Amino acid sequence: MTQHETLFIGGEWIAPSSGQTITVVSASSEEVIGSVPEAQEADVDAAVGAARRAFDDPTGWATWEPSARAVVLERFAGALERRGGEIARLVSAQNGMPVAISTAFEGAFPAVLLRYYAGVIKEAVFEEERPALMGGTTVVRRSPIGVVGAIVPWNFPQSLAAFKYAPALAAGCTLVIKPSPETVLDSVLVAEAAVEAGVPAGVINFVPAGREVGAYLVSHPGVDKISFTGSTAAGRSIGETCGRLLRPVTLELGGKSAAIVLDDADLDLATIGEKLFQATLLNNGQTCFLGTRVLAPRSRYAEVVEVFAALAGSLKVGDALDASTQIGPMASDRQRDRVEGYIAKGKAEGARVVVGGGRPAGQDRGWFVEPTIFADVDNNHTIAQEEIFGPVLSLIPYSDVDDAVRIANDSDFGLGGTVWTRDKERGLGVARRVQTGTIGVNTYLPDPTAPFGGVKASGLGRELGPESIGHYQQIQSIYT
Ligand code: NAD
Repeated sequence: MTQHETLFIGGEWIAPSSGQTITVVSASSEEVIGSVPEAQEADVDAAVGAARRAFDDPTGWATWEPSARAVVLERFAGALERRGGEIARLVSAQNGMPVAISTAFEGAFPAVLLRYYAGVIKEAVFEEERPALMGGTTVVRRSPIGVVGAIVPWNFPQSLAAFKYAPALAAGCTLVIKPSPETVLDSVLVAEAAVEAGVPAGVINFVPAGREVGAYLVSHPGVDKISFTGSTAAGRSIGETCGRLLRPVTLELGGKSAAIVLDDADLDLATIGEKLFQATLLNNGQTCFLGTRVLAPRSRYAEVVEVFAALAGSLKVGDALDASTQIGPMASDRQRDRVEGYIAKGKAEGARVVVGGGRPAGQDRGWFVEPTIFADVDNNHTIAQEEIFGPVLSLIPYSDVDDAVRIANDSDFGLGGTVWTRDKERGLGVARRVQTGTIGVNTYLPDPTAPFGGVKASGLGRELGPESIGHYQQIQSIYT
């Protein structure tokens, strides 16, 4: 049980403006595991004020040589690594992510990103002189965009926050980060790591709160840029506000990606099982990029059904903190209700449950749902069109590759996806035809070096890659 009484604002742990708290409950045991103060609008004012002062300081973070910022980012990475195990366990306790997965992602990835962006800014050109066609020269400057409001969901709370703060800090921005109420405890450790690393006061601030306070942050006059990861519904609302304010915004939203199994795919679980799991069921299905629509050629449909039934049936479901668990509970009772609602809808619309469909036996506490495989799904079924965000896959038959591409693109979303084939060139050819921001051939794993994000209702803009620094900069041309 960790009980925090203060908020991290302006480099200090300060008393909150009200006595309201957010209580966090374990997804596996339903027991209370901690609480933090719930930030109110007055706390957001204080956090934005601190970030504003830190940004506007004439000798502050934004004005430092990139190499000096890189040193702090590397120290921050080290401080997070020292807390990696604790962070991973805390994330798992809160949102139900199996601890083996949170150790690999939540406990490790933020440090990888900080080191990566430290390297990027050591090499990056922030100011260049170009010969002008109309005479003279032009100085083109890239300067940090300002105060960033970063709003983060609960499913990968550490990695997705770092997708934002690592490039933003590297660019010279300051941040106000709003974690999701389901996962507020782990952000305390990030604040402690920032202090230990010598991140200057006010450069990074946390306001744990719900959506109303999130909306207040989005429209705050002291904020220069919004970076949001979460649902498409919230993203639309945030995008509308930012459109009205002409405020730059990056939106990483929902997905309903296709895993296209070609007729020459290797379907031996001994060789591809781990990769297939990562691409379709990672983190209890609560991952935005998963290929939750599995498109299978009619010629091998029965075989594909068997393979996914064997994969889902073999997974160890259990307490998220057990190192051998592969599928933990849903993050909240609300989330389990949502997933169960979709399972009921799938059955009602005529899809066939091959494996799962209920609650696992022997789990009388925690918000568990059985890994569930639906066969005979039509792409127009609700379970094939809407994001479920649980361990539920829809197996959809197709006739030929053109039909597979048509079905893959017949979606409001376009975030992830995979193509499974023994012929990499053939896989690349199909991947190029899918309308999506990211896609893998026989694998799917976002990498710091490659831009990540979606098209259509999956979002606007990209995170990761050296390109991401540009989303936290503005460009000025000085004619001389
Ligand atoms: P959510 O949209 O309900 O909440 C996300 C965050 O936004 C939370 O911090 C929440 O408090 C805040 N929020 C909600 N409405 C807001 C508003 N109107 N203004 C300001 N802040 C608001 O999403 P969730 O249920 O926490 O997360 C799951 C969703 O996130 C899924 O749809 C998933 O696909 C998506 N997601 C996308 C990516 C990606 O990179 N594209 C990654 C992970 C999750």
